[in-house]
Amino acid sequence: MRGIFLLGLSIVLASCAKPMPAQTEYVLGTLCTINLFEKGSPELYRTLFARLREIEDRMSVNKEGTELDRVNDAAGKEPVAVDPDVIEVLTAALRYAQLSHGAFDPTVGPLVKLWGIGTDNARIPAPEEIRKVLPLINYKDVVVDTQARTIFLKRPGMALDLGAIAKGYAADEMARILKSKKVERAIIDLGGNVLAYGEKQGGKNWRIGVQDPGGERGAYVGILEIKNKTMVTSGVYERFLIQDGVRYHHILSTSSGYPVQNGLLSVTIIGDRSIDADGLSTTVFALGYEQGRALLESLGNVEGIFIFNDGSLRATAGARSSFSLTSEHYHWAE
Ligand code: ADP
Ligand code: MG
Repeated sequence: MRGIFLLGLSIVLASCAKPMPAQTEYVLGTLCTINLFEKGSPELYRTLFARLREIEDRMSVNKEGTELDRVNDAAGKEPVAVDPDVIEVLTAALRYAQLSHGAFDPTVGPLVKLWGIGTDNARIPAPEEIRKVLPLINYKDVVVDTQARTIFLKRPGMALDLGAIAKGYAADEMARILKSKKVERAIIDLGGNVLAYGEKQGGKNWRIGVQDPGGERGAYVGILEIKNKTMVTSGVYERFLIQDGVRYHHILSTSSGYPVQNGLLSVTIIGDRSIDADGLSTTVFALGYEQGRALLESLGNVEGIFIFNDGSLRATAGARSSFSLTSEHYHWAE
């Protein structure tokens, strides 16, 4: 009797080998954590992180020899053939550039380089330097040939930077791989770009903290309850430079050349595709509250939470109903 019971137990144990814990690696310029819960195998984690590194190797501007680097080097000279990944991300970026009339602009590269925010070379450029690079920023001077799969920047000195949207694409790619492997649930967190894949056991929502833009990393303003959705935040706290007590953050105005200042501390977008939520988080931040919210509402299927520097919060209807404010440092404005 006893022997049979023990045998049964050992079969159960063998069939549910200890699940692998969440894995974290530094990729795409940030800490990326993937939690596959019960389905985690070393092989699957390897596949996922390898794909993240592949995307980084194609699209990073902080690495030499990437495809984007080659496109930038050939600015004003010739079109450069790139992988379909790059075409897809750039096409989405150009769409947000159009929708925001250039407030979001993937040709912001020369300005991003000048400020160097988030790198060892961060500094406040001289007004003259800013004046010189501003004319190089114009998404209308990007030629994408989807047939030949080439990208051409029309003028010398132009440079693409896809930092505002590439992580979203990468998160969607993680979801695509998980789907092909029949994985049911996972949390993908690419430096705050979160994809809540599937639903929690028992059909429950995931509970995801929204970063307090004025607090320590990991301090939350509140909790968002979602399933099968992505949540992406752009804020003043992610990368910045402090000089003489002034904070210069990394989302730059394509018209003034300085960090965007419009009273927003962060914008969180909730949507179905991470490439869109990521593109929109930066776009809406750059546009500011009024225009940004109007854009979200015109698109549909995307929700937003806006946090202001006076401690107030606003949110679209859908976001408001799935978010609970937990920090006493903030209050609803409406
Ligand atoms: P994070 O990368 O920190 O998650 P974002 O998605 O908001 O945050 O992207 C910010 C990055 O976008 C900057 O580091 C820079 O590379 C790029 N960027 C800055 N200003 C603009 C802009 N106006 N339009 C498009 N990209 C921008
Ligand atoms: Mg973004």
